[in-house]
Amino acid sequence: MSIFRDVEEASPIEVFHLMKIFSEDDYPTKVNLTVGAYRTDEGKPYYIPVVKKAEKLVLESTTNHEYLPIFGLESFTKAASQLLLGDIVQRQEEGSIFGVQSLSGSGALRVGAEFLAKHLKCTTFYYSLPTWENHHLIFMNSGFNDAKTYRYWNEEKRSLDCDGFFEDLSNAPENSVIILHGCAHNPTGLDPTKDQWKQIAEIMKERKLIPFFDNAYQGFASGDVEKDAWSVRYFLSQGFEFLCSQSFAKNYGLYNERAGNLTFVLNSTDNVKAVKSQVTMIVRGMYSNPPNHGARTVSTILNNPELKEEWLDTLKIMTGRIKDMRKALRENLEQLGTIGKWNHITDQTGMFSYTGLSANHVEYLRKKYHIYMLRSGRINICGLTNNNINYVAEAITDALV
Ligand code: PMP
Repeated sequence: MSIFRDVEEASPIEVFHLMKIFSEDDYPTKVNLTVGAYRTDEGKPYYIPVVKKAEKLVLESTTNHEYLPIFGLESFTKAASQLLLGDIVQRQEEGSIFGVQSLSGSGALRVGAEFLAKHLKCTTFYYSLPTWENHHLIFMNSGFNDAKTYRYWNEEKRSLDCDGFFEDLSNAPENSVIILHGCAHNPTGLDPTKDQWKQIAEIMKERKLIPFFDNAYQGFASGDVEKDAWSVRYFLSQGFEFLCSQSFAKNYGLYNERAGNLTFVLNSTDNVKAVKSQVTMIVRGMYSNPPNHGARTVSTILNNPELKEEWLDTLKIMTGRIKDMRKALRENLEQLGTIGKWNHITDQTGMFSYTGLSANHVEYLRKKYHIYMLRSGRINICGLTNNNINYVAEAITDALV
């Protein structure tokens, strides 16, 4: 008899399951709008040229594969935190802001959440309804036991449910951790305005709530990394203590290299030593120390003005294509007289669009047209190309009849 006999099978992760059945589908005009990864207008993954260039430099200068420090590569964490928070050199020098290299954005959330659960005795966390499906699992695995949601998506208006959002924050118990998407909210593509961010900050300050910013898409909302960092920098300017995770999966196309950073913002240098020592224990007990290649590649680009410029230009090209596809989808749907209003497609930002299609529509589109999207109706706009956009728009029109 097997020792594994009582293991219960967990349900599959939707996005990876869909990718698998998509790859097995041999229908000639199939379309993949599932996974959050950039695609070219040929529908291909994009190996960003400046990343390739930097990798070559990394390889040429690599002399050994010794361990990195537990906190990772300092040239990377410093530049990454600066990319997000702006001019923080002085705070970095005094130590009240520091970064921890992480296993991409997920790893940053995981280490940060475990720290908050263990050392700040946080038990309750809030995430937007809806959010990236992994937030719940990561926080529960990190020691939180009370998962709550704040309202975010207004189904009827296909816009931000501001009143609901503010009301839920106002009712959150002190010391709750609030996961906030820094920009390009996944899955809705809807970000608060500057005024709304100010109100969010005000409520959070009054209620003594702890912000945990999740930044997986810096540069992917507006095409400008500075603009996309506005929300996080505003919280910094308001004197908050907070954590933020960064992923370099999307904006560098380094999905499988797991390059990420977790930034701690403390309001005093008094606690830095203790905090760092406890983060050390968490990392040591979880994966001991981080991988080199992705972080060194990002660091090479961020610390070289010429390469950085090239990367910023590439981001503009990628976001430009996404914006073009949003516009084209909306125009196509409007021209076809598709039932409903479609302004939300262009009002939304970043990689994703929350289309408002129901689970039944999603199933119909997959079965009849071999167009794959998440059950929630979320599509990855990058999966649209000049070749398949008419096909997708016509299929949506048919699904809604
Ligand atoms: N947060 C959000 C909102 C995301 O969409 C993602 C990627 N899908 C991540 C974090 C982390 O991704 P990764 O671990 O690949 O960096």
